[in-house]
Amino acid sequence: MSTYRVWMTKRVPLKVARLPSALKHHRSIATTSRSPAAIVSNDFRETKSPPPSEFIYGAYQKVGGPNAKDVFRIRIPTFASLEAERAHRKLHHAAALRWLGYQGYNNEGAGGHVTVRDPIMTDHFWINPHGKSFSHMKPEDLVLVSKDGEVKEGGNMHSINPAGYIIHSAVHEARPDVVAAVHCHSVPSKAFSAIGCKLEPINQDACRFYNDHGIYSGFGGIAFNPDEGQHIADALGNTKGLILQNHGHLTVAKTVDGAAFLFGAMDRCIQAQLMADAACAGRGTKTIKVGHEEAEYTRKVYNDEMIYIMFQSAFEDVVKASNGELPAHVQGEIPRP
Ligand SMILES: [Zn+2]
Repeated sequence: MSTYRVWMTKRVPLKVARLPSALKHHRSIATTSRSPAAIVSNDFRETKSPPPSEFIYGAYQKVGGPNAKDVFRIRIPTFASLEAERAHRKLHHAAALRWLGYQGYNNEGAGGHVTVRDPIMTDHFWINPHGKSFSHMKPEDLVLVSKDGEVKEGGNMHSINPAGYIIHSAVHEARPDVVAAVHCHSVPSKAFSAIGCKLEPINQDACRFYNDHGIYSGFGGIAFNPDEGQHIADALGNTKGLILQNHGHLTVAKTVDGAAFLFGAMDRCIQAQLMADAACAGRGTKTIKVGHEEAEYTRKVYNDEMIYIMFQSAFEDVVKASNGELPAHVQGEIPRP
């Protein structure tokens, strides 16, 4: 039985979320039977153990009742071989870089880096070549790097950003569950990271990061020293994102799709919090926060498969815009039922 089927049997029937009575009158709380609390019961964060390396599957629940016909759903695929999985990771890595470029995250020239762990040599990772435009990236442009920072044959023999290696190698080493990490310098995160606070659950999307991101408050200069990479990995801990004080932000996931989605999502949440806080300051008020239980419940919906799915419309846009340079699929990619 697949992990997904186990998950499916665990999540039915739906249960009504039980809320503390003191919270029942909170304006943000959903108290109806439409609140499917049980679908998130197997999230790893309910335990203190490290995040598992295997995927946590689960897209949106089926709608239309038990007799509704099955429909096609986008899922994380499986692969006929590790070589096929490598090709898929490189295709989606290049596509994620193109998307980041289209969004303006390549605006610091040679800054910004996305890494993806190799599925065969799992202590090696792929990284974008230093100084090359994100917006034209192809799988064959990606650089293969050993854990010691050596550029290896098999990938593009091109220089890499030393800070990218220092930060990302420490993250990949500290987090065996992490396949991909994304870090660029956005204008909102440069502003937000100077304030010294975390994201607050002020809207549904910000709840994705509720109690699930860190803050690194000890900026030690541009990350050319291995100690800085280690400090960043330590501050990330077991979470999915990090505010790097006086610097920017970084996200991680088990797919590059998920890490890229979380990077953009975190940036938009940062923008929203800056705007809401500025508006409240002008009005002399405070933002209204989502309740603890609802924030936790919402965060847990965004499991590994959900954040992969959330990026697939962007992947489709990139493939279409590439005019045939990037394929939609790789050989040996097998759709999950
Ligand atoms: Zn940086």
